[in-house]
Amino acid sequence: MNFNVNATQEDLTLLQTLDEKTLLEEIQMRYKGNRIYTYIGDVLLSINPYKDISIYSIRHQREYTDIKIRQALPAHVYAIADNAYQTLRRTRQSQTIVINGESGSGKTQNAKFLTQHIAFVSGGHLDIDELETRIIKANPLLEAFGNAKTIANDNSSRFGKYLEIKFDNDGEMIGALINEYMLEKSRIIRCSPGERNFHIFYHMFAGLYDEQLKNNLLDQPDDHRILHTFDGSRVFADRQSYIYHQSAWDELMRIMTTVGFNEEQIETLIALLAAILHIADIEFAHDVETDGAYILNENCLEVSAEFLGVDAGDLARCFISSSQIVRGEEIVMLKTVPQAEDTRDALAVSLYSRVFAWIVRRINLMLMPERRYATGQTIGILDMAGFEDFNENSFEQLCINTANEELQFFFNFYVFRQELDEYSQEGVKGKTIKYTDNGAILEMLLQKPLGLFDIINEESKIRTATDLTLAEKFNKYFSAKKNIYIKIKSKPLCFTINHYAGPVTYGCGGFLEKNRHTLSHNLLDCLKMSQSQIVSDLYAAKLSSTGSLQMNPDAPMRNRQSVLYKKPPSLNLKNNQSISKKAGKQVKSKMSKGIVQTLDRTTNSKTLSSQFTNSLVELASKLHDSQPTFIRCIKPNSMKQSNKFDIELVRKQLKYTGVMEVIRIRKSGYPTRISHRQFIDLYKIIAFNLTSKVEPTGSNCLKILKATNLHQFEIGKTKVFLKHYHTELLVRKLDDIG
Ligand code: ADP
Ligand code: MG
Repeated sequence: MNFNVNATQEDLTLLQTLDEKTLLEEIQMRYKGNRIYTYIGDVLLSINPYKDISIYSIRHQREYTDIKIRQALPAHVYAIADNAYQTLRRTRQSQTIVINGESGSGKTQNAKFLTQHIAFVSGGHLDIDELETRIIKANPLLEAFGNAKTIANDNSSRFGKYLEIKFDNDGEMIGALINEYMLEKSRIIRCSPGERNFHIFYHMFAGLYDEQLKNNLLDQPDDHRILHTFDGSRVFADRQSYIYHQSAWDELMRIMTTVGFNEEQIETLIALLAAILHIADIEFAHDVETDGAYILNENCLEVSAEFLGVDAGDLARCFISSSQIVRGEEIVMLKTVPQAEDTRDALAVSLYSRVFAWIVRRINLMLMPERRYATGQTIGILDMAGFEDFNENSFEQLCINTANEELQFFFNFYVFRQELDEYSQEGVKGKTIKYTDNGAILEMLLQKPLGLFDIINEESKIRTATDLTLAEKFNKYFSAKKNIYIKIKSKPLCFTINHYAGPVTYGCGGFLEKNRHTLSHNLLDCLKMSQSQIVSDLYAAKLSSTGSLQMNPDAPMRNRQSVLYKKPPSLNLKNNQSISKKAGKQVKSKMSKGIVQTLDRTTNSKTLSSQFTNSLVELASKLHDSQPTFIRCIKPNSMKQSNKFDIELVRKQLKYTGVMEVIRIRKSGYPTRISHRQFIDLYKIIAFNLTSKVEPTGSNCLKILKATNLHQFEIGKTKVFLKHYHTELLVRKLDDIG
């Protein structure tokens, strides 16, 4: 194969001088030559080429299978996949590949190449092809529901994904599991100018047959509030975009059939998506008579109720009133217009997130190992949004950045602290290496009680709490932490956190609302009682502590009234006037004076922050139980363009992803550590007779290392410390002898 590897180094830790300037020059030069991958010790740096660079063919896959000497081939994400698989086979220990980087840097593409290549190198067995196809097919399905067009990326993943590929004792791929984290649910009701809602809605409008559209009371995407574009342009601005979405839908239908959705389930899904659009279109106004909100467009209410399989009057009551049991008596309060709007939005968001969870459950069912003898050996691939700092940062950014702090902690822990701890335990006098320890920030964010997320949670339970009282609590508890938390006197709702990657200012307007996010008990009751099997199942299902849905993904097949409605709901309101006003009056008559504030009782009360912190803990423990590899993805420019290298932008990302620090430690450190016993077992014949008994001592190890002519290693009390290229030289020496 014609690889041009000579121009620059594949592994930057092998360079004589390595400072920020050289690093930037080096990767810029490599990028110009389409060499988008570079090793920094055992971390892989990847720069998005934004063009096809033809390095992902079957030929390349063959080349990167069972690699003996990494340096002999250009750096490649395939080499990482091959190495993870080889290490899994050799050590029987689970592997994790952590992919990090900001939106549009190429994380998801690399995750796909990894999956594809892991399937390839572990292949050669019978049913693999089918499983591989299924894992790869799952991607477009997940992306249709979980991705959206954003400023940074036309196909941006709006959720974090941890894919675990499972192996049996023979190294055969036997199944997979997808864990999804932090779907950006708020996008359903609100997206920034220039951005779009989740792909699926546009695919649907372009792809449905006229009759399907009609049955679901749909016509044009522009008719619906949550699909409106900000600039007033039409959603399908031209024929081309319409055709694109149409073929995406057709493809999706093929995949859903392959994945095992039947026609009825697909119709149900379409109806659920339509229901979300209709719900979001409900509008409220202030009723002078009742002093509460009432529903303006009752046709939308009726259609929504019909689609949900619930009584329109019941649904209306849930939207415009809340109730509370006080001393055995139900006290009902009318909502204001903004409160009613919040309820409507919460319902749309909740329905979508449950649909998403349902899709993930179904995919997992299809990927589940068929054979029972799973070994617990896995290769995990984590693809999660990188550090974010926008003009305005809210709860979502706080969650993403906290997750990144956790990953950074893990990275530090693995790369730096483990290294240092081990040197000192082993009596190796390594140089002292400085690194950023972000443990204190994590503690401030996540500790219980009185960590920042815990305070949000506690405050969410207090009826009189507001975003301002929340901000005051933060200031009270954290102002003393001068290096990591900064109170902003001029803006009482804002605070700054000094993250490992730099300071970020957050505004906590809406924090409590976003955190509570749960539906009121009456709304939940109403949905659980739905005539539609799927709706009642989706809402009867328990949420796990991390917010994933615990239900039988086959549920909709047990038919009660499987399609959400039987006939298109009637839009004629003559016989059925003013449900919401009636509901309002009833409510008012039950109202009791004196209670000014009530908050909906919430069942299933997993707040967003508790789901979030729980899933972080779960993820962290998975990572700690495995051997990690890190891929750092870099975006060369903000214009999604090829052949453009914006040095300042790249410099910032190298800092965010901790790459500069890796370079320092990798250069001075010893990435390979191996016990005397294991070292002797592996490399004995380099210096000893095959049959002779060799004691596992440091001096015997030294003989082997000298016979291989190695330098710069260290021999500790129980382990040998090697530079990563040492292993390759040892293996080569073995090959020479053998
Ligand atoms: P992220 O997941 O980090 O947000 P993506 O993986 O979705 O970023 O990449 C964004 C876009 O960049 C892709 O849709 C694709 O057009 C382009 N891209 C990313 N990686 C590559 C690659 N290795 N080769 C060619 N194009 C790429
Ligand atoms: Mg992505």
